[in-house]
Amino acid sequence: MIEIHYPEEQKIFCPVCGIMIFSFGEEGQLNAELVMNDCSHLQFLGTNDSKEIDKNDWYAQHEYSVDDLDFLDYLKKTLGDDYVCFIQCSGAPAMLCGYIIFKFTEGRKMDVPFVGDVI
Ligand SMILES: [Zn+2]
Repeated sequence: MIEIHYPEEQKIFCPVCGIMIFSFGEEGQLNAELVMNDCSHLQFLGTNDSKEIDKNDWYAQHEYSVDDLDFLDYLKKTLGDDYVCFIQCSGAPAMLCGYIIFKFTEGRKMDVPFVGDVI
């Protein structure tokens, strides 16, 4: 899994299709609402503490895994380099980290004709 550390409170766009996936809302607005969108590349949207979108049940798999790894280490160990994780952490002492994970082979797969891969 490729990690990209991103400044806190920056909007995150899908690098493939350009959809704004996550935003803390407009700057200066008191009651700014979190914006969360989905696209076909997005696999996970959450934190080390909770999940909003988890298309592969990684969060549950981590909870039931026998390894005593924190969530990010578990993902790093589990996912290959076709996954890219955008990481945003808030400063100490809270250290809440947001993870937004895309899979970038997803689009390419749809572009090639289906040849019926038999496993
Ligand atoms: Zn996308």
